[in-house]
Amino acid sequence: MAGYVLKAENLNIWFGNKHVIKNVSLEVPDKSVFALMGPSGSGKSTLLRAFNRLLDLYEDVHVEGHVYFDGIDIYAPNVDPTWVRRRIGMVFQHPNPFPHMSIYDNVAIGPRLNRMVKSKKELDELVRWALERAYLWDEVKDRLHMPAAKLSGGQKQRLSIARALALKPRLLLMDEPTANLDPVATEKIEELVLDLKKEIPIIIVTHNPQQAARIADYTAFLYYGELIEVGPTSRVFTEPRSKLTEKYLLRQL
Ligand code: ADP
Ligand code: MG
Repeated sequence: MAGYVLKAENLNIWFGNKHVIKNVSLEVPDKSVFALMGPSGSGKSTLLRAFNRLLDLYEDVHVEGHVYFDGIDIYAPNVDPTWVRRRIGMVFQHPNPFPHMSIYDNVAIGPRLNRMVKSKKELDELVRWALERAYLWDEVKDRLHMPAAKLSGGQKQRLSIARALALKPRLLLMDEPTANLDPVATEKIEELVLDLKKEIPIIIVTHNPQQAARIADYTAFLYYGELIEVGPTSRVFTEPRSKLTEKYLLRQL
């Protein structure tokens, strides 16, 4: 499994009797940004949630096939889903820090619950590290005890990223993290993604092909549950192997 952080094999997902992911196989190389693009309703969020077993929390969902994370089959009966969720972080489309909780506590809560630190000093250092890593420290260092609700949209999203990073995940999943942000805030997140990938591979869902072109090393195109295409981003964009990909890139789908 060397070289791949995550590998899906013949993955099928149903909500009730609705088949929403259809026999998807793909490999996500380490140290890369991997974009998952496709029109709304194609199953991007579902696939992403299957990658860290967040999908288990939904009703009436059925998963078949395999997802290997560093070679470990995360759907095997002996695997603890909470371990998977801790090792594979998630950032959502709507920035979701706890609004009434302070900036500090939003980052500190995960390490505290998981007993990752032994002292207040260690916790302070981890919180600072995560906020720095998420490009937020300089903007908030003087008001760490302010409620998160007071931050701007872009800052809230970077706080969500800091919260995920504080758990020292091995892989980061991002579900349309810039969909609700203005261009300046979007650019900052994209820059951050490119910086983070050196240490932590990232799978990012986007319905914006330009975003994939800007930041992704590899791009997959999902179309109503089927994986139409996957490969190095430059190849997918310049020589798409499917007419559907071509149409999607020309915004005709
Ligand atoms: P995308 O993120 O690409 O927009 P989703 O993964 O959200 O697509 O949805 C894929 C399909 O699964 C859609 O048809 C959607 O209606 C359906 N779906 C998503 N979540 C649920 C759910 N919790 N229960 C039932 N159907 C769902
Ligand atoms: Mg979605």
